[in-house]
Amino acid sequence: MRNYESTKRILVTGGAGFLGSHLCDRLLAAGHEVVCADNLFTGAKRNIAHLHGHPRFEFLRHDVTFPLFIEVDEIWNLACPASPIHYQHDPVQTTKTSVHGAINMLGLAKRLHVPIFQASTSEVYGDPEQHPQREDYWGHVNPIGPRSCYDEGKRCAETLFFDYHRQHQLQIKVARIFNTYGPRMHPNDGRVVSNFIVQALKNEPITIYGEGQQTRSFCYVDDLIEGFIRLMATDASVTGPINLGNPGEFTIRELAEKVIALTGSRSTLEMRPLPADDPRQRQPDITRAREQLGWTPKIDLETGLRSTIAYFDQMLSGGST
Ligand code: NAD
Ligand code: UDP
Ligand code: UDP
Repeated sequence: MRNYESTKRILVTGGAGFLGSHLCDRLLAAGHEVVCADNLFTGAKRNIAHLHGHPRFEFLRHDVTFPLFIEVDEIWNLACPASPIHYQHDPVQTTKTSVHGAINMLGLAKRLHVPIFQASTSEVYGDPEQHPQREDYWGHVNPIGPRSCYDEGKRCAETLFFDYHRQHQLQIKVARIFNTYGPRMHPNDGRVVSNFIVQALKNEPITIYGEGQQTRSFCYVDDLIEGFIRLMATDASVTGPINLGNPGEFTIRELAEKVIALTGSRSTLEMRPLPADDPRQRQPDITRAREQLGWTPKIDLETGLRSTIAYFDQMLSGGST
């Protein structure tokens, strides 16, 4: 029996992607109905294969740059390729996905008077001059570089969210997500964690861009999804933007060494040129998430890497995941 008090019909755009599929799992586990809308550009049916036939799950092949007319109680807007290889493949489409996608989903939220979540990104800070990054930092972004389609698209999406909030009193929840990893990452998306793990499992050279002294902070997917849920559960006065990420900071070289140790790999380190506009340092200041959501990541890098390695190991050995 449906409990009308607490169960909702929820739209997740980008729900067949890495983060989106984990979010669908979490919402279904809480008893909600989930409509997953995805054009499968970077997402995969295998990410949601286990939900096939689930009575409260529905998959909709849909591109968010086109209008969508459905009835839901809540919207999570995650649709957008997230890795540089994918978002630079068709940069114009990337900007359209962020900007037109946001307009369409905000229009839907406005018509339905429902809360809407935006998966924004630490990339809005660009190559930051402040460290760690707080939400009130405006960023240092190149508007015409290879990463701009993503960075500026996401910045414009944030602008739209806040203008719909001010102009149409929409309930918005904007999360700025920092590097997140875990099972169901795309094996060929060129992200550092998936690259290093796949290379290590194949005993191939680990490709370090630049000297490997640039830093990132890596959040395990389960921690991040917990932050999402807590943010959506806040009252209407909480809009974000709110940083969600793990403040533990590691150099790329340290990550490579950890992955080699945990996989017992024979891989060696291979230096490659640093890509253009590659941020040197990135670390979230999560004070706001601590204070407003009572949230803090719990899973350390080693624990998270072990389960991610197990996922890729199974995938590479042809097992179902
Ligand atoms: P992902 O590529 O696995 O997922 C994105 C999903 O969006 C895919 O399923 C893809 O097919 C879908 N999609 C892309 N364009 C679409 C369109 N026009 N219409 C409908 N669906 C479309 O990436 P992810 O890591 O799961 O990222 C999810 C969201 O979180 C993205 O918005 C991304 O910008 C944001 N984010 C992720 C990270 C991270 O570390 N993973 C960091 C910051 C922000
Ligand atoms: N939109 C949608 N689904 C809806 C309502 C609106 O996809 O249920 C789209 C619609 O295509 C529109 C966009 O959202 O272009 C913005 O809607 P809004 O009402 O804000 O603007 P307007 O329709 O006035 O341009
Ligand atoms: N990186 C690397 N080797 C790889 C892939 C990435 O050294 O095989 C570096 C990359 O240059 C960047 C960092 O790892 O400095 C994180 O890259 P990723 O693409 O995962 O995320 P982002 O740059 O968006 O934070």
